[in-house]
Amino acid sequence: MTTNTSNSEHTYDVVVVGGGAAGVGVGVALKHAGIENFVVLDRHMIGSSFALWPNETRFITPSFPTNSIGMLDINSVAIGFSPAYNLEVEHPTGQQYASHLCSVADFFDLPVQEEIDVKQVREHDGLFHLETNTGTIKALHVIWAAGEFQYPRMNGFAGNEHCQHTATVPGYKSLEGDDFIIIGGYESGVDAAYHLAHRGKRVRLFDKSGPWEDESSDPSVALSTYSLERMRTPGFMEQVELFPHTAIESVKYTAGVYEVTAKNGDVFQTHTQPLWAGGFEGGHKLVADLFEKRGDGFPLLNENDESTMVPGLFLCGPAVRHDNHVFCFIYKYRQRFAVVAKAIATYLGLPAEYLETYRNWGMYLDDLSCCGEECVC
Ligand SMILES: Cc1cc2nc3c(=O)[nH]c(=O)nc-3n(C[C@H](O)[C@H](O)[C@H](O)COP(=O)(O)OP(=O)(O)OC[C@H]3O[C@@H](n4cnc5c(N)ncnc54)[C@H](O)[C@@H]3O)c2cc1C
Repeated sequence: MTTNTSNSEHTYDVVVVGGGAAGVGVGVALKHAGIENFVVLDRHMIGSSFALWPNETRFITPSFPTNSIGMLDINSVAIGFSPAYNLEVEHPTGQQYASHLCSVADFFDLPVQEEIDVKQVREHDGLFHLETNTGTIKALHVIWAAGEFQYPRMNGFAGNEHCQHTATVPGYKSLEGDDFIIIGGYESGVDAAYHLAHRGKRVRLFDKSGPWEDESSDPSVALSTYSLERMRTPGFMEQVELFPHTAIESVKYTAGVYEVTAKNGDVFQTHTQPLWAGGFEGGHKLVADLFEKRGDGFPLLNENDESTMVPGLFLCGPAVRHDNHVFCFIYKYRQRFAVVAKAIATYLGLPAEYLETYRNWGMYLDDLSCCGEECVC
């Protein structure tokens, strides 16, 4: 991993914004495409979103060292690398996975600059100008890979500010209180409920639908098997009361009491600050003006995950959407790294032959029409 600090006069072929799983993975693909004049920028450090997960939170997707027979570990971002082999754990913690990403960046000697916070991206005359905390950086192409975790959704109902977003919880062990209300029952909400229940806390878990009841085979919609298994562990149902199909309308805080009102009129009280597991707005909001919007608010992309409005600007990571395909897990969005790297290599006149290898590893999904919802999502 190299650090270069003289940016002002240089024009990069590619700047990758974000050094998470997407930024590191696509950075490796750029190297495999033969692109050398690029840099990966991160406002903190490689893997910092993972490092910020609550201490107890683990991957729901299991890692297994399947590489020896040509199958990539489900949590791998680079061919030949297995977090299972590297870390010797099946469900890594965020800290463990962050260290894995650092190993990958080191091994491939990715050109990384840390503590560079990109505030704004502008394009004129075919050149991108990235305004950062340390000055302007210029590039011919930009890959936006800033993730979601550091951009939590802080709205959804009146009084949201009285709740603590699960993305800001350092660990469930250190949370004070005995009587928790959790709003949002998808992965993060169930994860919080699980750790609190195992500490003997009372938990009431609300969701506007009921992910633990959903029959979809898509883990972007229904709860993962890991979480369903956790819900069946001894003690969980004794401590956790489930409220499916109970949308919350407001949270009020008066004289030490949090009052949570559901849309159906039911009122719940607690002295413990409610937890909000309401998902993320996503870092793409910083570059929203450079993308057309889909009907669901996500950036509209062409077949190379490039902005339809500003050629040369690409999106990588969990915010990628095509039709009804949601690429929100690593094993999904990594399939687009080679597509993006190939498109940029082609713009630069490079053959990018090695990228064909990605296909053999199931890491090169360039024909979205051949894929039904079941296999992508
Ligand atoms: C609790 C939890 C559990 C999860 N479990 C799984 C799982 O089991 N399996 C799975 O596949 N996925 C899982 N996910 C989803 C997975 O974490 C995300 O898909 C993944 O982190 C996205 O990677 P990323 O590189 O896009 O974003 P991030 O990992 O967030 O990386 C983005 C990077 O960009 C940097 N950055 C952000 N903004 C800027 C800026 N303006 N300028 C410069 N740098 C910037 C950040 O510092 C960060 O390092 C989970 C998510 C959560 C929250």
